[in-house]
Amino acid sequence: ENLIRLQKFIAKAGVCSRRKAEQMIADGRVSVNNNLITDMGFKVDISKDKVKVDNKLIELDNNKIYIVLNKPSGVITSVKDEKNRKTVLDLTKDIKQRIYPVGRLDYDTSGLILLTNDGDIANKLMHPSKKVYKKYLATVEGIPNELELDELRNGIIIDNKKTAKARAYVVDKINNDAVLSIEIYEGRNHQVKKMCEMIGHPVKRLKRVSIGEIKLGDLKVGEWRELTERELKFLK
Ligand code: URA
Repeated sequence: ENLIRLQKFIAKAGVCSRRKAEQMIADGRVSVNNNLITDMGFKVDISKDKVKVDNKLIELDNNKIYIVLNKPSGVITSVKDEKNRKTVLDLTKDIKQRIYPVGRLDYDTSGLILLTNDGDIANKLMHPSKKVYKKYLATVEGIPNELELDELRNGIIIDNKKTAKARAYVVDKINNDAVLSIEIYEGRNHQVKKMCEMIGHPVKRLKRVSIGEIKLGDLKVGEWRELTERELKFLK
């Protein structure tokens, strides 16, 4: 099958995410064989059609790269920052391909962030309908009891909407702080912090340790590695 949807083609070519590609199409920035296309259902034949974005030919390269970075706290996950703070791209300068982060972590959150030039991946890993669990270790004030943990597990109202089912348990206690393992598959804004805040145990430190089968392992803070074959299989 050589036909794929135009927005998927653009994402696969590493231009941007599928969502952003749809916007580009709607904005009249995309042509196929020199015909302007604004129709979202349009399919391209990858064996012969010529796709241009802003009049520049884009091609599917099969040179996809998938990176796991252990993001330090104090680094932003967007590609540019008007305040000139350090970004995840500053930590992956050795990589020649144009890559970008999949999803986000807060400035003060550390841990696993994926970077890739494969625009198809964000949807597969981050869309809540895919139910890919992201696991966080959250150091919180005080020690939550079972009732409070059950609130996290069963769903709790944040920003006027109940969170989906989650996994949550105490993995460690340090003085009067607890380290919680929290697994969620939604990716709402500051979700873990808001959930913990709601049960009266604000987050002091937050680290993401896995996305589905992709694990941070013993990767040191600030360092990156390519995905293993096993992890790639999980992605595809
Ligand atoms: N939840 C948060 O509150 N912050 C993150 O960075 C990730 C999940």
